[in-house]
Amino acid sequence: MKLNAADLERYSRQMRFAGIGRVGQEKIAASRVTICGCGALGTVLANNLVRSGVGFVRIVDRDFIELSNLQRQVLFDEADVAENLPKAEAAARKLRQINSAVTVEAVVADIDRTNIEELCRDADLIMDGTDNFEVRYLINDTAVKLNKPWVFGGAIGSNGQTMTIIPGQTPCLRCVFEASPGPGEVGTCETAGVLAPTVNIIASLQAAEALKLLVGKYDAINRELFTIDIWENTTRRHKIAPLLGKVNCPCCQRREFEWLEGAHGSQTTTLCGRNAVQVSLRSATKLNFDDMAKQLGQSGNVSHNKFMLKFDVEEYQFTVFPDGRAIIKGTSDTDKARILYAKYIGH
Ligand SMILES: [Zn+2]
Repeated sequence: MKLNAADLERYSRQMRFAGIGRVGQEKIAASRVTICGCGALGTVLANNLVRSGVGFVRIVDRDFIELSNLQRQVLFDEADVAENLPKAEAAARKLRQINSAVTVEAVVADIDRTNIEELCRDADLIMDGTDNFEVRYLINDTAVKLNKPWVFGGAIGSNGQTMTIIPGQTPCLRCVFEASPGPGEVGTCETAGVLAPTVNIIASLQAAEALKLLVGKYDAINRELFTIDIWENTTRRHKIAPLLGKVNCPCCQRREFEWLEGAHGSQTTTLCGRNAVQVSLRSATKLNFDDMAKQLGQSGNVSHNKFMLKFDVEEYQFTVFPDGRAIIKGTSDTDKARILYAKYIGH
């Protein structure tokens, strides 16, 4: 893609770096990236990639902004919390102010097996900005199936980890972690918290990998599983390259895409650290918030904008999205959440 005079000025420091150069910058400008999740990792990823001049950035996130996000989610501020904005929309708005030359697409949706291929098919690269393993295994299946690189990142407490997956050239996520950790096996944001610097370091490493991938410098890629503890001042590089082709990986060796095919996964998800459950529908619907608000008139604090409808009943806070998905705060019991959903939203 041809660069104009403003581009040459804006990206001058990046282009002066020998690994990128003018040719690299042109490749970056012609690139399309899907960022899955726009929370802690996702906001740092999006910030880096949009500033770097990636031509098209799609941001997919299911959630809305809360005060407890501001400690680490760099694209959001207090006005966004007050405005009840979905993260993807608020991030896109901020990013367009930062770099109007980049096309930023906001998708407010829960990434699941029914939509992930569509969200990633036209992307050159998929970035993991999520906070749960279910979506990571879906990304892994999709990336291997569509033969696209992706960059895994995770952060909890003072611990972070990242690895880069190039299908056929490096082990995939399932080569390294065959199954997702069971409940209680790893800490959550609720039990362990998370430090902003942990997130910033991991997402920045991911963004660096993204630049290498987009300019085609595959020899510079991190081919190990990198872990860091910023409180203990330790880093480790786990040699994972020998796993490629040596473990009988269901995903990249047998090409059985179990997560995409629905052998795993659920419709109710307990949200990390939130005492909340998300309930989603098998088939998307289109809710009429005006009608719903009237029907819920007797319940407490009904409010809505075009992105979401909120109300309180009993000791629970409901946030409902136009596609019928709801986040119910006040319980981490998925059965209870399903009952509450049926009672107040229906379907
Ligand atoms: Zn594999």
